[in-house]
Amino acid sequence: MLPSIANSMLAALPRKQYRRLLAGLESVALTFGEVLYEPGERIRHVYFPNDSLVSLLTLVDNHLALEVGMVGREGMVGLPLAMGRDVSPVRALVQGAGTAMRMKSARFSEEIRKSPKLQGEINRYTGVLMAQITQTAACNRFHVVEARLARWLLMTRDRVGSDDFRLTHEFLGHMLGVRRVGVTNAARALQRRKLIAYARGRIRILDRRGLEGAACSCYALVKDMHDGVHA
Ligand SMILES: [Zn+2]
Repeated sequence: MLPSIANSMLAALPRKQYRRLLAGLESVALTFGEVLYEPGERIRHVYFPNDSLVSLLTLVDNHLALEVGMVGREGMVGLPLAMGRDVSPVRALVQGAGTAMRMKSARFSEEIRKSPKLQGEINRYTGVLMAQITQTAACNRFHVVEARLARWLLMTRDRVGSDDFRLTHEFLGHMLGVRRVGVTNAARALQRRKLIAYARGRIRILDRRGLEGAACSCYALVKDMHDGVHA
């Protein structure tokens, strides 16, 4: 008997196919702050997160970073490869430590050719991630930092499966594309409302429902799209 499969894309495959795929997958530990790809770099591996979380960041003028997408157990990192591009357009940064299943790029391309089921899963996830990235672009432009922070915390929570996670102000500034002081003010406001507790680089969600109320509409919108994939 196989152990339960944490990653939703892998779990959605027929067991026989999953078993074959497993021969090319290795379990790796991803550490907080680790960079999996830089923009313009060749993609050597694809990653299927189990309990880890990876941020996709776009760099502007080579030093300003902004999060455009977030990948957890519902997806995979390295999608361009499935579309025949072996170079990453984004920085992929581990923002939640944990494990992932990883596969060498050449093997992955070969497996897609062999498996229409895997190709189907990739197509579905591509659609969902594109929707997330599109929504994030609009969110970054129109919604206030406090509501975006609430959305971001909830999205993180859904992917790591915990109310308690590591976070620094600097990191959060990159995620939201705002300066440190803006992040501090937004975090304080949520703390005053007793929705979160923040101390020594750790965030704890105290009131999930309340935080949902504080988040912008993008959270529910993107969540519904994600949930719909394997419904
Ligand atoms: Zn928003």
